[in-house]
Amino acid sequence: MIPYGRQSVDQADIDAVVEVLQSDWLTQGPTIERFEQAVAERCQADFAVAVCNATAALHIACVAAGLGPGDHLWTTPNTFLASANCGRYCGADVDFVDIDPLTWNLDAEVLADKLDRAEQTGTLPKVLVAVAFSGQSCDMRRIAELAERYNFTVIEDASHAVGASYAGRPVGCGEFAAMTVFSFHPVKIITSAEGGMVLTNRPELAERLQRLRSHGMTRDPQQMTEPSHGPWYYQQIELGFNYRITDLQAALGLSQLDKLDVFIARRRELAARYNRLLAYLPVTLPSAQPEAESAWHLYVIRLQSERIGLSHRQVFEGLRAAGIGVNLHYIPLHLQPYYRDLGFAEGDFPEAERYYTEAISLPMFPLLSDAQQDHVVEQLRRLTE
Ligand SMILES: *Cc1c(COP(=O)(O)O)cnc(C)c1O
Repeated sequence: MIPYGRQSVDQADIDAVVEVLQSDWLTQGPTIERFEQAVAERCQADFAVAVCNATAALHIACVAAGLGPGDHLWTTPNTFLASANCGRYCGADVDFVDIDPLTWNLDAEVLADKLDRAEQTGTLPKVLVAVAFSGQSCDMRRIAELAERYNFTVIEDASHAVGASYAGRPVGCGEFAAMTVFSFHPVKIITSAEGGMVLTNRPELAERLQRLRSHGMTRDPQQMTEPSHGPWYYQQIELGFNYRITDLQAALGLSQLDKLDVFIARRRELAARYNRLLAYLPVTLPSAQPEAESAWHLYVIRLQSERIGLSHRQVFEGLRAAGIGVNLHYIPLHLQPYYRDLGFAEGDFPEAERYYTEAISLPMFPLLSDAQQDHVVEQLRRLTE
């Protein structure tokens, strides 16, 4: 089975992990800081805080943004569960903004209208999680303008977009988002097995994120609210978590970062090749968001159902039967039983729902060969002609 995504781990990655395993620090050691600094530098951010996964990163980013009970978090329905659950962890209400029918990202003009209405009812969001779906940023310029006007914090969920750029600068640079979150899960662009990171340019947010990652405690006298008792002393000044990453994971992430440019170059090549090979099939190809250069975590197509004899499900199952591990990103979040129980229903976000009846994620990862890709295209041609 050709999977839809998979990691590329080489001997250098293995050696880097083994080296840390033989060192004094398996966790809370110097490799974590090296990983953070390397990612921050690469993305032109002032600070980076590494944690155990992107879900934890989203959670502490929301806490650092001051999100709590009675507040509102908005995000796209076309994302992974974690982009919305982070709001629920904080006791906030979650709502969604429907997607752009072309880029499949949160639609900034739908957002503008919804903000206008929310202002009148006093239900403006405190946090917007702007997901860079498939690896390309939303209309971040417009979103940042709206954030200024309506006073909410933008967290870019760039779990798909490590190595992407927007407006000529790396995603994570903080020009259009207060905080940016990366995931290093094995299906994503680079991996640390499990791992996540929050990038920011604001020192007060960075300090808070570091504290929240480790129980809300500090050893820094500057941060303490009472005098130190002595050299053994640490102080818990708020409620935090154990969301730490290990040095083993950081070593893997750091070694993978060396290959980021090579990975992205191959993903772009594969995307261009798909675009060319699929151009004459009855499918809609991904559209580029102006100013965004995608990292191509996913390559998603939409079936033009009226031009195809088989149903969406039959094409999907046909591809799986042909050994192609296609996937579907995403089931609209508001249709999950957990969110339905909170009051959402079918029809709430029609663009995301229509997208869901047509979308298929084709295999996309650096080790996918041209021959494998040709096989995917050939099978899709067979099933849709
Ligand atoms: C993968 C993913 C996450 C969660 O990442 P983990 O590191 O697995 O916690 C969050 N948001 C999006 C959009 C993702 O794709």
